[in-house]
Amino acid sequence: MKKAIVPDTDDCGGKHAARALSVDEAQKYITSDVKPVHGSEKLALRSALGRILAQDLYSPFDVPAHINSAVDGYAISSADLPQDGAVTLRIAGTSWAGKPYAGAVHPGACVRIMTGAVVPEGADIVVMQEHVSVTDNAIEFASEYRAGDNVRAAGEDIARGAMLLRAGSQILPAELGLLASVGVAEVRVTRRVRVAFFSTGDELRSIGETLAPGQIYDSNRYTLYGMLTRLGVDLIDMGVVRDDRDSVRAAFLEAAGNADAIITSGGVSVGDADFVKETLEALGQVGFWQISMKPGRPLAFGRVREAVFFGLPGNPVSVMVTYYLFVEPALRRMMGQTEIPIHVDLKVRSASRFRKRPGRTEYQRAILERDADGELSVRATGDQGSGILHSMSTGNCFVVLPKDSGTVEPGTLVDVQPFHGLI
Ligand code: AMP
Ligand code: MG
Repeated sequence: MKKAIVPDTDDCGGKHAARALSVDEAQKYITSDVKPVHGSEKLALRSALGRILAQDLYSPFDVPAHINSAVDGYAISSADLPQDGAVTLRIAGTSWAGKPYAGAVHPGACVRIMTGAVVPEGADIVVMQEHVSVTDNAIEFASEYRAGDNVRAAGEDIARGAMLLRAGSQILPAELGLLASVGVAEVRVTRRVRVAFFSTGDELRSIGETLAPGQIYDSNRYTLYGMLTRLGVDLIDMGVVRDDRDSVRAAFLEAAGNADAIITSGGVSVGDADFVKETLEALGQVGFWQISMKPGRPLAFGRVREAVFFGLPGNPVSVMVTYYLFVEPALRRMMGQTEIPIHVDLKVRSASRFRKRPGRTEYQRAILERDADGELSVRATGDQGSGILHSMSTGNCFVVLPKDSGTVEPGTLVDVQPFHGLI
């Protein structure tokens, strides 16, 4: 196993200021360090929603299987197209969706045809019914048509034998439909990744418990529960672990024994519960990183036994931001996904001031909306403290302010990454 500690960083509690990693460097390091888990299972198609394909799939037949009509109208031969003026063609019969016309289209004749019905032999155009006047079992039309108009070729979506989906693709609604369109009833997908997670901190209580002075409810386990459930991993919720050497050690060992990945929150900032660090160092290979970002500067990453370990900061916004930037892409890699969805960047004009000091990349929470003229604009949610979880709920995007940027005035183009519905 590659040593999971970036060489030129120092412990965040170290005396010598270590070079902080950029977000990009940390992302690259983490995603290249984690590997897909082994194992797969066969699932009924619908149950595979959100899962990752474990096999390449090829189309067993042409989609669509037959040449068919894109509209309701009349199937004709291009040889019968009017040279000038109009043409009259006799209606020889009807081709219904699922019940093709038995014969061919002969010169001077046409076949009434419904959307999706097989285009009979001899026809290569479907004239839309809106362009036709029908009298005495014959049609008359004058509109301009060319061979192939309103006709869908067999195999135009997917040719027989063509690659349908690659191993490593995520099965989303379009893929469910695609697989159904070629009659696939079961698919082999990668097994679910098992993720154990817990919060650390003596001040934390679980909901239902009474709060004594100085105590707070544990919210990180709920945001993590939500984000991990959406991602589709198997969860092992280990609750709150007290700031106590033996409990921490026991929790890490239990997690490492049951899970492919471990996520903790809290206890990675300067001066915090040192035995967390000490325990991790004794049990595995874990680096305590400074990342040049806000929120979410301290992050621990490495291995505890065979399990991948993410030690997220304790502040509630930091948990969500570091999950979005580092944990989710890594878990997707572990799930076997080959194309990790990118974080979409938009350049949008700011409608408010974004306060910032140069030095770190900031992920400020903001609201992306359309102004009265229909133009996209973005405004800050208010206080950007890393404990203001409300900003993740009020906001629908991050305004990503580069490391060296200072305060951004209204009217400036800023980088926006929508997160609403993604995490
Ligand atoms: P720490 O990283 O442990 O120093 O925590 C930083 C801040 O986040 C402190 O104010 C903690 O009380 C708070 N915090 C840590 N864990 C949680 C949690 N699970 N839920 C809510 N707040 C937390
Ligand atoms: Mg703590």
